[in-house]
Amino acid sequence: MKFSVAAIALALSATTTVSAFSVKSTSSRLAPLRVATSSEEATNVAEDDGEKAVVRKSDEEVFAKHKRPTSFATKCASLYHPNPGAERGLAPPVYFGSTFLLDDAAHGARLHEKREAPYTDDDGFVYSRWGAPTNEAAAVQIAALEGVDDPRKGALGKCLLFNSGMSAITSALMAVLRSGDHAIFPYTVYGGTHEFAENFCKEWGIEVTYIDASGVDGPENYKKAFKENTKVVYTETPANPTMRLTDLAGVGRVVDEHYGVADDTPGTDPNARKRPWVMVDGTFATPYHQRVLDIPGVDVSIHSATKYMGGHSDILAGSVTSRSEPFLHGCAKVQKLITVPLNPMDSFLLARGLRTLDVRMQRHGENAIKIARMLEEHPDVESVFYPGLDSHPDRQLSDGIFTSGRDEDDEEGFNQTYGGMVTFIMAGEGDVALQRARNVCEHLQVINLAVSLGGVESLVEHPASMTHGMIPREQRLAGGLPDGLIRLSVGLEKAKDLIDDLKDALDRCDEEGCDLDI
Ligand code: PLP
Repeated sequence: MKFSVAAIALALSATTTVSAFSVKSTSSRLAPLRVATSSEEATNVAEDDGEKAVVRKSDEEVFAKHKRPTSFATKCASLYHPNPGAERGLAPPVYFGSTFLLDDAAHGARLHEKREAPYTDDDGFVYSRWGAPTNEAAAVQIAALEGVDDPRKGALGKCLLFNSGMSAITSALMAVLRSGDHAIFPYTVYGGTHEFAENFCKEWGIEVTYIDASGVDGPENYKKAFKENTKVVYTETPANPTMRLTDLAGVGRVVDEHYGVADDTPGTDPNARKRPWVMVDGTFATPYHQRVLDIPGVDVSIHSATKYMGGHSDILAGSVTSRSEPFLHGCAKVQKLITVPLNPMDSFLLARGLRTLDVRMQRHGENAIKIARMLEEHPDVESVFYPGLDSHPDRQLSDGIFTSGRDEDDEEGFNQTYGGMVTFIMAGEGDVALQRARNVCEHLQVINLAVSLGGVESLVEHPASMTHGMIPREQRLAGGLPDGLIRLSVGLEKAKDLIDDLKDALDRCDEEGCDLDI
């Protein structure tokens, strides 16, 4: 059987009913994205179980309406499509169109009525800011990886794709927060998330509380911060860059105990919900390790798909996935009016990256644990944070969190790895650790000195002066981010090459080095 992305998208779309119409495509539900069907199948409106059923015109018929251009200028301005057969390419096509041909005026009117729906349906596309084919193909695949395509597990969910992780995070927050609301964030979140909370949420009249979300006390710390007007309980796990873990099941439980179970009646305002929205940025783990929407009480899964999901350091992208219809509508509205869906070329590259996510994540984890063990033994390293090490402060949580791509029928512990992110703190008092950390970053010759993470190549950075420099120092220290901390994104190179490179740079950590000014 041929499963096209369109077919899966259609299968996932909650309903094809629009106002008083149910929409029928002239193409089969398992057909590829563009199908040439007989031009005899004209649009008609038939009675279907007492409901008006609209039968869409075929593509062929819509295109056939146009006269063959004869003048030079009109030929230049016209659209020439490939002959039938293009759909058989194994690689999905990239659709660059900003706008789409309509069957007729009524079709255009119907599509405008449902512009805030998170996905298109059998009724087709209208304008790319409201949904576009290549974007939706990648989004449907992420929804599947997040596990929200499985009807046995509850309401079917959907994924929305954005042009960066920050765009995904801010869209999810803007979908539910209004002036007068309260949001709880961990001390250690990605610098940009912290900046948004400080410079935008607070400016917009939203109260913000920071807490220590990590380890066994995390859920209780959230609970202590709960208020009547709390609308968002935000987590980032594993946390960037400390690698501390949050007990998401515990967080879901304390939220349920305090606020009751959520009412997600379709069509309701996401800001009107009494129970706060529990959001998880799981960028470091990806759905390979952490399918957070399977955890009771978690509402929204967010990823910077720039990282492991894309996997090649060649795109910026972000995903937001949820099972909640009111949330998805709210988030789709923000996307359509403010933050814009992921562009077609990057959607294609993201989908291509996803096809190797399983094998890449496994290799990242195999390499990372070898490096973490070497670092733990090194005299110039004070401590190492890697969830697979027994010394990790949240080790008791890590086997439950890092699911390593296992399916229900796989044995417990099968293929167990713990991701590709390793952080370590250089030994030394005060500025000595800082100087050493920066020297190590500069002396590496295989591992690249660059921010970001999750690509096939290894990257190293110094969070206190780079990605997390915008967080005040006291707050950084409270969140477990000292100046001597180095963050490594372990790539897919040969582990020995990476270990030799690190050993060499560590041996040279006291050499005359870089400028200390941060
Ligand atoms: N979330 C985490 C955990 C990150 O590490 C980052 C970026 O490093 C982001 C979100 C933001 O993602 P992007 O750079 O794609 O906007």
